[in-house]
Amino acid sequence: MDYQTLNNSLEIPQIGLGVWRAPNEDAAKAVEWALKAGYRLIDTAAAYKNEDGVGQGIRNSGVPREEIFVTTKLWNSDQGYESTHQAFNDSLEKLGLDYVDLYLIHWPVAGKYKDSWKAMEEIYASGKAKAIGVSNFHQHHLEDLLADAKVKPVLDQIEIHPTLTQEPLRNYLKSIDVAVEAWSPLGQGTILNNPVLVEIGKAHQKTAAQVIIRWHLQNEIIVIPKSVHEQRIQENFDVFDFELSAEEIQKINGLNINERLGADPDNFNF
Ligand code: NAD
Repeated sequence: MDYQTLNNSLEIPQIGLGVWRAPNEDAAKAVEWALKAGYRLIDTAAAYKNEDGVGQGIRNSGVPREEIFVTTKLWNSDQGYESTHQAFNDSLEKLGLDYVDLYLIHWPVAGKYKDSWKAMEEIYASGKAKAIGVSNFHQHHLEDLLADAKVKPVLDQIEIHPTLTQEPLRNYLKSIDVAVEAWSPLGQGTILNNPVLVEIGKAHQKTAAQVIIRWHLQNEIIVIPKSVHEQRIQENFDVFDFELSAEEIQKINGLNINERLGADPDNFNF
């Protein structure tokens, strides 16, 4: 397993399990399978309504808490100073944990995210979140946040996959030492039949999903593919025994069409 060092010196695993759209029972099973397969990063959110299941899966796995990196997120309707503190405590309670490793602002709610950040800085200072960060922030959102922030976000979790490579934003994040984490890294499964990816996979005896995950890793992107199937969870982690060539990476970069599967952070209505 590879780790990246965040700008506050915390180490984060390069691969984690995402659990969006997994109800509590499925999430519990998936988390347990993932931890048994060697994953050490789990990505959930208050909005996924499965923090209970994630906590259950962690306990069922028998893996020591301190070995696991748990991320959860502040939902949009909870943004604001007081409500962020309240929402964070609710998340801890649902997870059954006394700290999380990373707490993220889920979306940049206009007029609210700076107050939320103030509360998150206090949560960070209390030690109940080992790191704080953002999600779905464009460069201008980060510039605005950083103008007043005392603590710099450790990472920005954004939509990235071979058909939305986000190179300008990734370059900006690198320039300010904020790590990049990809959501929907497999394009929600929609690009797994792409002939370029399948062909590259054949050359390495790997699947298209494994090729895409490898592409993220070699681009220094932290990646959180989702699955609730044991075999796929194992498959998505079995990516440390091959390497893509520079030419293969270029070919995958060439699939970019700047196409979002989710909302544009400048134009969301939830
Ligand atoms: P993903 O790109 O990880 O794709 C998941 C889908 O791909 C699965 O549902 C399954 O259909 C398919 N799949 C996965 N592994 C496979 C395999 N080995 N073979 C064949 N098919 C496979 O999509 P995602 O769930 O949208 O994103 C991953 C995680 O990112 C989420 O679970 C969540 O934790 C996070 N996320 C965050 C945000 C945000 O706003 N911050 C938004 C979306 C997702």
